[in-house]
Amino acid sequence: MARVYNWQIGRTMSYWYSENRPAKQFGAVFDINKCIACQTCTLACKTTWTSGRGQEYMFWNNVETKPFGSYPLGWDVQLLDRLGQQKWEGNVYTGQTVFEAAPGGERVMLSKRETIDYSYPNVGEDEIYGSVERGGSLALPQQMWMFYLARICNHCTYPACLAACSRSSIYKRPEDGIVVLDQSRCRGYQECVKACPYGKVYFNAATGTSEKCIACYPKIEQGIQPQCFVNCIGKIRLQGWVSTPDKAREDNPIDYLVHVRKIALPLYPQYGLEPNVYYVPPLHVSDRFLVQMFGPGAPAAVRAYRNAKEDKTLQGLFALFGSTERTIPRFKIAGDFALALDDAGKEFMRVPIYEPVYIRPAQDRLYQIMRSNTT
Ligand code: SF4
Ligand code: SF4
Repeated sequence: MARVYNWQIGRTMSYWYSENRPAKQFGAVFDINKCIACQTCTLACKTTWTSGRGQEYMFWNNVETKPFGSYPLGWDVQLLDRLGQQKWEGNVYTGQTVFEAAPGGERVMLSKRETIDYSYPNVGEDEIYGSVERGGSLALPQQMWMFYLARICNHCTYPACLAACSRSSIYKRPEDGIVVLDQSRCRGYQECVKACPYGKVYFNAATGTSEKCIACYPKIEQGIQPQCFVNCIGKIRLQGWVSTPDKAREDNPIDYLVHVRKIALPLYPQYGLEPNVYYVPPLHVSDRFLVQMFGPGAPAAVRAYRNAKEDKTLQGLFALFGSTERTIPRFKIAGDFALALDDAGKEFMRVPIYEPVYIRPAQDRLYQIMRSNTT
């Protein structure tokens, strides 16, 4: 095992290969607060990549309701249970990662993945945490919560799928850090399926090989965001490039949210993979749950998000989400507009930061009718 630095857990850790970062790293931010679980992203991916034989059960993109939903079943809770105490001291994780907790002879602490775990994608959907006592007073709103968690492969810096593959069929593309699986090398051992703690590698029984999200790299190569991003109804997603903290740039939208404002956080950083999809955590959820899911920065991120409406830069940046098909490598605020800039700093699109609101009078004197503003 090599020693590598994982900035998300604030320390070095053991990994099967030495540190070898790509020229650019695919990164993304999902604003959980805007997701409505319409599953348009899921279908956009499904119809593009997984409509063939043996792929029926695959959801390279899925959206599940937390705290009770999961696909595959129990993907997160079973591992959290086995990892042992996940302790943080400040921003340093002092518990074990899935690489450090691997039993002798294994490269990763593996998850159990049974066929039945993929049979119920709707388990827990729209179920709310908390309850109202029968005959008692109504529960306070903050005692009841749920949220939708949209998930794709995280194109991790230290992928567990890659580490576990004894055939070296999985690799990170040096130009963009996207993790791909070479099916001509794969022999279907399914170590990757069990190794990915996020449950994002799937076995195709029809071809005898494993498959996974490829971040729509043919689109990325043309400077266009993936299918699940550009089709997102809630405009919750932004794809771009994420740097390490020491190289973060203020005009890079992903760096700004992840490193400068620290409002977007990785999913289960304690697993140790340095995942590259970042989440703006949901409001109204207990701090303890959020810290377990997104690390110790979650309460501060929630506070920053609550204040975002007073903050023109954050407002402008969130207005750029879902505003163009093109990847936005740089951005700038100019007056009341947020500007999308290309790599050379040239503007290619702008959106108003504040959309005008028109309130129609209830009585239309011209047509002598009453109007409702609720439709
Ligand atoms: S399309 Fe967007 S809003 Fe709809 S479920 Fe997917 S991530 Fe959520
Ligand atoms: S999320 Fe899973 S499948 Fe994707 S790169 Fe990380 S370990 Fe591999």
